[in-house]
Amino acid sequence: MAAPLITIAEARERVLGAARPLGTERVAIGEAAYGRVLAEDLTAVGDVPPFPCSAMDGYAIIDGESDRTLTVVGESRAGTPAAHTLTDGGAIRISTGAAIPDGATAVIPQENVEVRDGAIFTLVAVREGEHIRHAGEDMRAGETVLRAGTTLGGAELGAGVAAGAAELAVYRRPRVQVLSTGDELRAPGEPLGPGEIHNSNAPMLDALATADGAVTTTPQRLPDDRAATERGLAGALETNDVVIVTGGVSVGPHDHVKPALAALGVEEVFWRVALQPGKPTWFGRRGSTLVFGLPGNPVSAVVTFSLFVRPALAALQGRSEARLLESEAVLGTAVRRNPDREQALRVRLERLGGALVATPNGAQGSHIVTSLLGADALAFVPAGVGDLEAGAAVTLAPLPH
Ligand code: AMP
Ligand code: MG
Repeated sequence: MAAPLITIAEARERVLGAARPLGTERVAIGEAAYGRVLAEDLTAVGDVPPFPCSAMDGYAIIDGESDRTLTVVGESRAGTPAAHTLTDGGAIRISTGAAIPDGATAVIPQENVEVRDGAIFTLVAVREGEHIRHAGEDMRAGETVLRAGTTLGGAELGAGVAAGAAELAVYRRPRVQVLSTGDELRAPGEPLGPGEIHNSNAPMLDALATADGAVTTTPQRLPDDRAATERGLAGALETNDVVIVTGGVSVGPHDHVKPALAALGVEEVFWRVALQPGKPTWFGRRGSTLVFGLPGNPVSAVVTFSLFVRPALAALQGRSEARLLESEAVLGTAVRRNPDREQALRVRLERLGGALVATPNGAQGSHIVTSLLGADALAFVPAGVGDLEAGAAVTLAPLPH
């Protein structure tokens, strides 16, 4: 007797239970850090801005009334502060971001003065501190600017540099290899013989894993042969943190993945999830190496990748928000329920009136790759008898692209 099917939530919990963050490394704060996950809190080395500076192009002056004539005695440019201290009756030409000269208490924008050979005439009154950016207004020395677990996008890199960092401690990227089983599989563009199909899974999953931060090894195809399957898996297990193998995890006479993994000492954590598409999904581990046996049908492979592999890749990289945010929508059409399994529909989302409406994106067979094209999300239809009516609430999960 096969073990009973487990729920999606239970399967995900078991995956996350096995996925511990990998080690950390230090990388330069430029492009090498982009998309990586910060492993340590980052604190500001100094104040940002480091010195009081001007918010406008204009003149640094002493605050006061309108209609004053002030002699221009120098200039403070970005990167080149003024050499002189400002005294009463004087003004110093200043650029945005340039240091406020000693003695100055405000900046008057250039549009608020008239320039009269070597002097300015103020057209408005200026309050103390006007148009001055204070030191530490953005960040204070010692302040935590980025928390461990933050994914480093462009803004985070900019803030990190401003905070004074040159290198960042980040989690190591998971090493991932995709293996596809099937005698029928041909490489992209290869002519097809009788009964053959193109191997869509390998390039697709390899790309999705890369987009999720993995460093991938070139995918490998394995024939439907027990010894070859074991050899291929053995090699992949040696050098990777995560092995994703597609096909061959059902119970057909040519499904060799499970026995091969067992022989290689990969311990089964679960097999078969109450999910359509994606029932034969297998997950196991050998030490800290994770192995996902995903169903061969491309749609099943993408759905199970997004529900189980993605959260694992996020957890291995120490991502604090595991990107599992789920939201709700209402069904746009009635959907026939599966008595035993939750269905993950590929849907299009549309705002109609106040409601977010989820409509199945074409035929939902697990072999219909085109159901993924233009789909906005997965929508979950709980197991049950009869139809789930149009207008019923469904939860959503993101679909990788
Ligand atoms: P399996 O799980 O090996 O029984 O495969 C289930 C279905 O998915 C079969 O119709 C396979 O031909 C198909 N399939 C398996 N692997 C791939 C692949 N890499 N690309 C496209 N289709 C596949
Ligand atoms: Mg097969």
